[in-house]
Amino acid sequence: MVLAAEAAPSAASPTQPTSPGPSNDVPDRSQRRLRRSADRKVTNLPSPNGRTAKLANTFGLPAGRAFSCPGATATCERVCYAGKLEKLYKGLREVLVGNMAALTGLDRNGMAVLLTDMIAGFRVDCERAERRGAVVPRDFRIHWDGDFFSLAYAEAWADVIRSSSDIHFWVYTRSFDPRALDVLPTLAYLPNLTVYLSVDPDNLAVAREARKRNPWVHWAYLAETFAAGREDLSSLPGKRYPCPENGRRIPLISQKGSACIRCGVCVSGRGDVVFSVAKR
Ligand code: SF4
Repeated sequence: MVLAAEAAPSAASPTQPTSPGPSNDVPDRSQRRLRRSADRKVTNLPSPNGRTAKLANTFGLPAGRAFSCPGATATCERVCYAGKLEKLYKGLREVLVGNMAALTGLDRNGMAVLLTDMIAGFRVDCERAERRGAVVPRDFRIHWDGDFFSLAYAEAWADVIRSSSDIHFWVYTRSFDPRALDVLPTLAYLPNLTVYLSVDPDNLAVAREARKRNPWVHWAYLAETFAAGREDLSSLPGKRYPCPENGRRIPLISQKGSACIRCGVCVSGRGDVVFSVAKR
């Protein structure tokens, strides 16, 4: 889930290939690479002045039903800021399209190989920063943009998460409707993964059913206002939190860290979270 306060993530590493071409331009297997993004809201290492992300700890794919989001709803297509950023920043769009192209046509194992390489790069970056004395939580957000687009892709991620016990992953997904794609059984009970269902009034009923089948998941609920969100969720058990960054109670990034690493609710899966389109 990406809301309007977020800044445009940037590509991770200038040493990795650029401009892999449009999604139907599938690269040769030996040239396939996945590129991480540096996102100010989630980075695990801010710059010394607290303004930019020094470490790329997230990964994206092109958003929308036509690309990686089979569970997109009318509400999320209306407010999806990640999708808007794709239209604004050509370089960013190229990274996402390149990632999609790299995964295209691969089976579970082929995708897991690429994801493993990408996570190995993240680990190397963390270690390099630590050698310089930085404190670098090993937290990685899957999908600052885009979603699980197939079962094989979700299985590939599950394989990588299982073999990366030194890293904690978190993800928001709308791929939980069995009529289209339900990845939740694949992602169940991985101790180093926190899963949030991205829910809004359009998929509320489907999300309720998904939660009955998977009581371990959390909800990230998007309402027009925090009050409307509280009301919509009033019958749900458990604790829920208004996102402090979305409500402008903490900055996107500062010298103390990025909003999500400082807050930690979603990263650790402390409870359900409410986002407000109106930010109040
Ligand atoms: S609730 Fe906290 S962790 Fe979740 S999106 Fe908001 S700032 Fe990030």
